[in-house]
Amino acid sequence: MDQRAFSRFPSTSAVSSTPGVTVCHLLDKIIPDRVQVSDFCTCTNCSIQNTARETICCREVWDSSCKYSENLKAKMGDLQCVTQVQEVIDIVDRSLQLDLFHENDVFLKRQLGLSVSTRVLASDPHRHRRFAAYTMLTFFLHGSTGMKQRVELPSCLVKFVRDRWPNSSGDYTGFSDAYNNNE
Ligand SMILES: [Zn+2]
Ligand SMILES: [Zn+2]
Repeated sequence: MDQRAFSRFPSTSAVSSTPGVTVCHLLDKIIPDRVQVSDFCTCTNCSIQNTARETICCREVWDSSCKYSENLKAKMGDLQCVTQVQEVIDIVDRSLQLDLFHENDVFLKRQLGLSVSTRVLASDPHRHRRFAAYTMLTFFLHGSTGMKQRVELPSCLVKFVRDRWPNSSGDYTGFSDAYNNNE
């Protein structure tokens, strides 16, 4: 898988099968395996993801004082969930901005001499919008340092993007959720 894509995307099943425990950068700690949403979510919008380090609730940042958690707290303020932040809603909702962000990303990659697929799958016409949304949300929450560190997005936020721009097959595993150079 294209690691540049992974920096912006929830992990795939292939990644989750990799042995070894990885630290969740957003919370700066190792996340134990989680089976039920009720085990960790208090914002009421989360879901189980493919890896433990991404199966996290936005409200867990209030138990952490690392810089990425502080970034999220500053944006959330008194809100119950990060998906209620108006700028987050604006980023995810605006199709034209997502499309233009995607166009710009394709342009930049081509400028760098990278191969870029712009094929749109009939079964998943919104994939590039999810890609753009994950990227823009990371920039909004953490700035460009969030991209370098591959900071996880809380599962409620990933679900929020997927609900707005769904894959008709409902399959977000494997490469289907990533915009990458291999397809
Ligand atoms: Zn939650
Ligand atoms: Zn939340």
